Amino acid sequence: MIHIGRQDRVFILTGSGVSAESGIPTFRGVGGMWRNYRIEEVASPHAWARDPRLVWDFYSMRRSVAAAAKPNPAHLALAELESKLADRLFLCTQNVDNLHEQARSINVLHMHGELFKSRCDSCRRPPFPDHRGYEAPAEIPRCECGGRIRPHICWFGEVPYEMDRIFAALNHCTVFAAVGTSGVVEPAASFVAHVRGRARTYYVGPEEPANASEFDQCYRGEAGKILPALFAIE
Ligand code: NAD
Repeated sequence: MIHIGRQDRVFILTGSGVSAESGIPTFRGVGGMWRNYRIEEVASPHAWARDPRLVWDFYSMRRSVAAAAKPNPAHLALAELESKLADRLFLCTQNVDNLHEQARSINVLHMHGELFKSRCDSCRRPPFPDHRGYEAPAEIPRCECGGRIRPHICWFGEVPYEMDRIFAALNHCTVFAAVGTSGVVEPAASFVAHVRGRARTYYVGPEEPANASEFDQCYRGEAGKILPALFAIE
């Protein structure tokens, strides 16, 4: 059990494992492949420049999988934790689905973007909600400025969003818990090393992550089984 005292500030990092029990495959769960493409080949600025229809096909498929998913007990437990800790909890997810929000988490930082948002690839128009699929569209949707509308996703080779806010929260946390993330995708994989020594560090998931040695304690098992009983709040 993780004890949270009155002075504690908690940073939670979730990865695709937290949504696995909701039926959304993890990156490694699908073998990192889609059709005959490696995910890196359809989730990159290079892929967008070369074949935007293929990229939209991929994200349209991911939107339809995510649209059918419902939050599981792990998402619900984190929303409950926020209801008790309020701004002493910082929830940072690598996930692009909206299951934390569906579980009624309020403040969720999506460092890798959001599946149900799109943005212009050219102008500074902010990302906007977008639930449509664009399978094999005759034309890639266009912005008023003439640019092409792309998924609001941090692709391979791009910089994750809101890193300033993330590091401010990491610098203040006293408890750090990573859930369902393999510890190989940077920069998230290095967050635990950044806080180690200052904060208590925990991992939750069925397998040891690649960065297991950085954690004080690993709780081995499915997030939906472990998280609902994990936190004891003073
Ligand atoms: P990963 O696929 O590399 O690792 C998933 C981890 O989840 C593994 O360590 C696995 O042991 C663990 N896991 C599997 N089932 C679990 C469960 N029931 N409870 C807890 N843990 C479980 O995923 P990653 O580290 O998040 O990095 C992959 C990248 O892929 C991320 O950048 C993420 O944005 C992206 N991605 C997101 C989604 C999503 O939004 N749901 C889905 C697939 C991939």
